[in-house]
Amino acid sequence: MSLDDIKQRIEKAEKDAGREIGSTHLIAVSKVQPNARVEAVLQEGHRLYGENRVQEAAGKWPDFREQFDGIQVHLIGPLQTNKARQAMELFEAIHSVDRPKLAKTLARLAQEIGTCPDVFLQVNTGEEDQKAGVMPADADAFVQECRDLDLPVQGLMCIPPVDEEPSLHFALLAKIAKRNGLTGLSMGMSGDFERAIALGATHIRVGSAIFGERTYS
Ligand SMILES: *Cc1c(COP(=O)(O)O)cnc(C)c1O
Repeated sequence: MSLDDIKQRIEKAEKDAGREIGSTHLIAVSKVQPNARVEAVLQEGHRLYGENRVQEAAGKWPDFREQFDGIQVHLIGPLQTNKARQAMELFEAIHSVDRPKLAKTLARLAQEIGTCPDVFLQVNTGEEDQKAGVMPADADAFVQECRDLDLPVQGLMCIPPVDEEPSLHFALLAKIAKRNGLTGLSMGMSGDFERAIALGATHIRVGSAIFGERTYS
């Protein structure tokens, strides 16, 4: 599916939900995609991308940033504290702040460096053992902790369980964000971004629908 098709579907979902056109940021998830495909989407003028690994992003985006102006790259995958400094240099936003230790490390580095990427706090809405994020019951306290650390908290992020209706998780995330006065909602992927937009997503993370299936080698 082309970038234009996705943009049209986003616009339709915004209209159907009675939302302002253009109120959803499309993060084109370029992880594992061949550089030629990413470059084609850059050539089409798209500037907001998502990566889930620090190392992979470090090998790809500095070159693209030299070739194209105005690129923004967001980290959407798990972050180890020992890669936090590198992540802060590579990304305009980190969507995967999922534990107090990481929040404290980012805050300390932000003091030292003088700037900090935008931060989204990941909530494990499905309460899955294997998934990152704070439990829904701990989310309010984590938001407060991150605010006390002066992190620039923009919103919340979730990855719903694969075999459940995502709308329930999007609605839960939206509810937690609202009661904490947060406006950013990073939710929705290739298979469910229209439902996420209907429930208030401000940042959707779409990979395979734009670039084609990922082939891991
Ligand atoms: C890979 C990934 C996506 C994109 O998934 P698609 O189904 O290809 O759209 C979105 N969010 C996260 C956190 C991912 O790791």
